[in-house]
Amino acid sequence: MSDEYLFISDCHLDASRPEVTAMLVNFLQTRAVTARYLYILGDLFEVWLGDDDPAPEHQDVIRLLRQLGETTDLFFIAGNRDFLLGNDFARANNITLLDEPHLLLLDKARVVLVHGDLLCTDDHDYQAFRSMVRAPEWQADFLAKPLSLRQQMAAQMRTYSLEAMAQKSMQIMDVNLAAVENCFRDNGASTIIHGHTHRPAVHTCGPGLRRIVLGDWDREPSYLSWTREQGFKLHDPRLT
Ligand code: MN
Repeated sequence: MSDEYLFISDCHLDASRPEVTAMLVNFLQTRAVTARYLYILGDLFEVWLGDDDPAPEHQDVIRLLRQLGETTDLFFIAGNRDFLLGNDFARANNITLLDEPHLLLLDKARVVLVHGDLLCTDDHDYQAFRSMVRAPEWQADFLAKPLSLRQQMAAQMRTYSLEAMAQKSMQIMDVNLAAVENCFRDNGASTIIHGHTHRPAVHTCGPGLRRIVLGDWDREPSYLSWTREQGFKLHDPRLT
């Protein structure tokens, strides 16, 4: 096995898109098994309402992650869709949950890992919502409700969020450049890796500074790899 790192995000697994689940199953079986580390930077699932959800549509992927975890180290940073994924799930499936920002040292380079929603500071409504639902008290209260009620509430929130997004410009929903600068500076980092915006790219942000945006999984797998010999490579069908 190589000392390769892989990074993915934004698969948004959902029963309505079985082809995406099939792509990820294939990726875990054929690609991720050759890597030493797999980092999942959020929004693996379109919705996660608690570790007690039987989620039958996700069991193939979960079983494969558990198997993969025996040979590849698995790490997860919460996204805005699956932030309720918790310690029970992580323990049962050989996954290490990471707080964000998470700092990774790759060949002495300081690399920051985040989902990306925290960088979108122009979206004030969303940041207020995020503060609410990330509070431990809110989460404890929500998770104490019956699953059926959580599902109803999530569907309502989703409707509200889609309506709100339809009225926002693409710019508001992208990263804020000052937030990006702060992220580099506060972490003393030269590279930021994030997903969330679904705009795969490698941006140069200054001398020696780069921001790598992971792609969402739509028609083909999208992932970033890193090895000491090759450095970073962003594999996304939209970039070729
Ligand atoms: Mn997201």
